[in-house]
Amino acid sequence: MTTQIIRNELIQLGATVSEKTIAIKAAGELLAKAGRIAPAYIDSLLRRETVANTFLGHGVAIPHGMIEDRHLINETGIAILQVPEGVEWNPGQRVHLVIAIAAQSDEHIALLRRLTRLLQDEARLAELFTTADPYALISALDDSAVAPAAPQTAASDLSLSLSWQMNYPNGLHARPARLWTEQARRFAATLQIRNGNEVADAKNLIGLLQIGAEFGHELHFSADGPDAAAALDALLAVANQLTAQEVADAEAARKAAANAKRQHWQAPGKILALRGISASPGLVIGQARVMKSQAIQVPDIPATLGYDGDLLENALQATREQLQTLAADTTRRLGKTEGSIFLAQAELLSDTDLITLTCQLMVEGHGVAWAWHEAVQRLADRLAALGNPLLAARATDLRDVGRRVLARLAPDLQLQDGAKTQGHNEILIANDLAPSDTATLNPQQTLALVTAQGGPTSHTAILARTLDLPAVVAAGAAVLDIQDGATLIVDGDSGTIYLNASDDDLASAQQWQQAQRDKQQQAASAAQQPAVTADGERQIEVAANVNRPEQVAAALQAGAEGVGLMRTEFLFLERDDAPDEEEQYQTYRGMLTALDGKPLVIRTLDIGGDKQVPYLNLPHEENPFLGVRGVRLLLRRPDLLLPQLRALYRAASHGPLSIMFPMVSTLAEVKALRAQCEQVRVALNAPVVPLGIMVEVPAAATMADRLAEHVDFFSVGTNDLTQYVLAIDRQHPELAAEADSLHPAVLRLIAQTVAGADAHGRWVGVCGGMAGDPLGAAILTGLGVAELSMSPRDIPGAKASIRAANLAELQQLAQRALNCDSAAEVRALTGATA
Ligand code: PEP
Ligand code: MG
Repeated sequence: MTTQIIRNELIQLGATVSEKTIAIKAAGELLAKAGRIAPAYIDSLLRRETVANTFLGHGVAIPHGMIEDRHLINETGIAILQVPEGVEWNPGQRVHLVIAIAAQSDEHIALLRRLTRLLQDEARLAELFTTADPYALISALDDSAVAPAAPQTAASDLSLSLSWQMNYPNGLHARPARLWTEQARRFAATLQIRNGNEVADAKNLIGLLQIGAEFGHELHFSADGPDAAAALDALLAVANQLTAQEVADAEAARKAAANAKRQHWQAPGKILALRGISASPGLVIGQARVMKSQAIQVPDIPATLGYDGDLLENALQATREQLQTLAADTTRRLGKTEGSIFLAQAELLSDTDLITLTCQLMVEGHGVAWAWHEAVQRLADRLAALGNPLLAARATDLRDVGRRVLARLAPDLQLQDGAKTQGHNEILIANDLAPSDTATLNPQQTLALVTAQGGPTSHTAILARTLDLPAVVAAGAAVLDIQDGATLIVDGDSGTIYLNASDDDLASAQQWQQAQRDKQQQAASAAQQPAVTADGERQIEVAANVNRPEQVAAALQAGAEGVGLMRTEFLFLERDDAPDEEEQYQTYRGMLTALDGKPLVIRTLDIGGDKQVPYLNLPHEENPFLGVRGVRLLLRRPDLLLPQLRALYRAASHGPLSIMFPMVSTLAEVKALRAQCEQVRVALNAPVVPLGIMVEVPAAATMADRLAEHVDFFSVGTNDLTQYVLAIDRQHPELAAEADSLHPAVLRLIAQTVAGADAHGRWVGVCGGMAGDPLGAAILTGLGVAELSMSPRDIPGAKASIRAANLAELQQLAQRALNCDSAAEVRALTGATA
C-alpha cells in the first residue's frame, strides 16, 4: 500500500499570511513535521521560488524544491496551506491555495492531473479557498484517495455496469475511440471501460486504446455519479451506432486488398526484391528518395512555470484549431473517414496522461518544449511497445501531433519538414510517414510510398489509398539503405520493392502498367459520356469540386466537364500568413490553364464556422457557424476581399471564370459585393464575369426570387443548407445520421431556389455532398437543377444515375420526394429510378 500523498496533517486551513515566503515556509513546515522532508528542503522551496515562478493561475501556487535537493525528500508528500484572504504571489497575482510539492518520482502525477482539471472549474476552486473541511481538499486533489483498485489485482467495475461485445472488425482504434471519449466527456459521471484486467477512464483516449479491445472481446462499461445511468446509455448508443460504419470500412479495405492480390505483376527474370505489406495498390517505376529521419534534439530551457504553462496551453489550442481545420479541409477533399483522422489526432491533445506528464516534467524544472517532447516520446514508445499494430500506428499519430505542437513551442527548432518531395516521379521512402505528411503530398511529384515501419491500418495507408498512391509498408529497415535516386519498381499490389531492375524487367513492368491503364480507360470512357436523361430530354452539366490545379487532370479523367466549386480556403490553410494577390492569381490562372477552356467557378474565401485560420486572429465566437463567416467576414475585411477579387479579375482573361460568394443571406450583401467587384474590374480593365452566390442559408433560398435579379447563378451548398435548415451542427458525431440532405425540408428549399431562379432566367447548380449521391443527383435533376458539382470519384455514379431514367420519371421522383415526411422516406424511393 502506498501512503496517501495528501493527508489531514498536511493541510492547514484558514491561514493568514502577509507574504509569500511566509506562506512557503508554513507549507514546508507541514511537510517537515509530517516527516516527509528534511527541514533543509524548506530552503530549497524558497530558493526555487527565486529562479522560477510557481504561480499556476486561478489563485493556486505550487512551490516545489530544486531537482538537486531531491535527496532531502523522505517520502513524497503534498502540503496545502489554505489562505482564504489570499496572499500576494507576484504583483497582481493572489494565491489562496499554496500547494507545496515534495516529489521523489512521479507519484504526484495524479495531483497534477486533478489540478489541471480543477483550474478549469472556478466555482469548485472558490469553494476550496474557504472550505472548513480538509477532506474536501483531499478528495479534490488526491486521486489515490478515491482511485479505483489498481489493475494489477483483479480489476473491478464501478457501481452501475453493463457488458458489450466488441463487434468492430478492427477492434477499438483511434477514430471510433475518439467518439467514445467525446460522448463520455459530456457527462459528469466517472465512466470506466474494462477489458479483462485492463481498465481505462472512458474520457481518456490513449488509456482507452491501451485496453486492447479487439473483435469479440467482452467489454465492461461501468459508471459512478449522479448521471451514471444516462452516461452508460449514451456510451452504449455511440458504440452501437458506429458498428455499421466500422464493418463497412473493414469490408471496403478487405475488398481493395483482395482486388489487389488477385493479380499482380510478375518480374520476368531474377531480380532483387524487398518485401513488405501491401497498403495501397498499383505498380510504378520511379526514383528513390530516401528521407532519413533525424532524431530531434530539443534544448531544455526552463522558464517560469506560469509562462511555460501559458505557452503550452496556447500551443495546444492553436494546434487543436489547426487540426480541426485540416480535418474539415481533408473531409472536403478526400472524404469523411480521411478527415476524421485529424479529429482523432486533435483528441490526443486533450489526453490527460500526456498533459500531466508534460506538467510534471515542467514542475521538475524542465522547459516546456523539452517536457512536451519527452512526454510525447515516452507515451508513443509505450504504445509502440505493446506489440499491437493498431496501437503502433497510434504512436505514429501521437508523434505527428507532437511535432505540430513542438513547432509552436520551439519555433526556432529545425524540425524535419515532413515528406516534401523535390523532383518528379519520386518514390518516397521513410522510416514511417505521418498522416499530415501524406495528406499534403503533391501527387504530381510522388509516385509511391514505401515505409520501413507502419502497417496497412495506419492512417497514412488509408490516405494513400484515397490518393491513389501505391504504398508498401513494414518493409523493414533495409529500405532506408536504398540509394537516393536509384530506379525502383514498387508493386503496391503484392507489397514488393524491386531493385536493380534490368531493361527487360522495366519493359515488362511498363507493359503491365499499359494494360492496367487500358482497363481503367475502358471503365472511364463511360464516365466521359455526358449525363443525358434516357429520353435525351435533359443534359446536366457535371463538374468537380477541385481546389488545386494539379488535381484537375484526375477530375477530368473521372468525367468532370469543368470545376463547379474551387474552395479557396485551402490556399490559406496550413501556413503562417495569407497568400498575397500574386500568389492567388498564379493559382487561379493555373486552374484555368489546367481546365483548358472548360468552365471554372471559384468561390471566395469561406472562413469561419469549422474553418479557422489562426494567423487572421479573428475573435473567438460562441457560435462560429452563426457568426462572422463567409461573406460576412469578407465584407468586414477589405484586406482579404480586395486582393482576392483583384487576383480573380486578373485571372479572368485566361479562361471562362465565374466568381461565387459563400454564406450570402441578404440582398444588401449581394449589392455590396457586386459594387466591390465592379470597382475592381473597372480598375483592372478586366472582362465582365458571371457573379453567383452559394445558397447555404435558408434566407437565401426563400428570397431566391429577389436575389436572382441581382446574381447570374446560384449554387446550392447542401452541406450547410442542411445544417441550417435542420439546426444540426454538420460536425456533430451523434446527429450525423439525422443530418441527411435528402430531408424534404432541404429539398423544398432547393425547389424554391429553382423557382426563384427560373423567374429571372438564371441557372441553379448544386455543389454540396447531395450532388454526388446517386439518388440525390436523380432528384436534383427532377427538380430542375442544371449543374451538379461533386467530388471527382462520385462523378461516374452520379452520371449513371441521371442516364438511367427519363426526365418525366425524374420529375415525378422529385415531386414524390418533396411530399415525403422524412429523409428515410425519400431514401426508400430508390426503386423509382431503377
Ligand atoms: C456546402 O455547404 O454544401 C458547401 C459546398 O460548402 P462547404 O462544404 O465548403 O461549406
Ligand atoms: Mg458551405
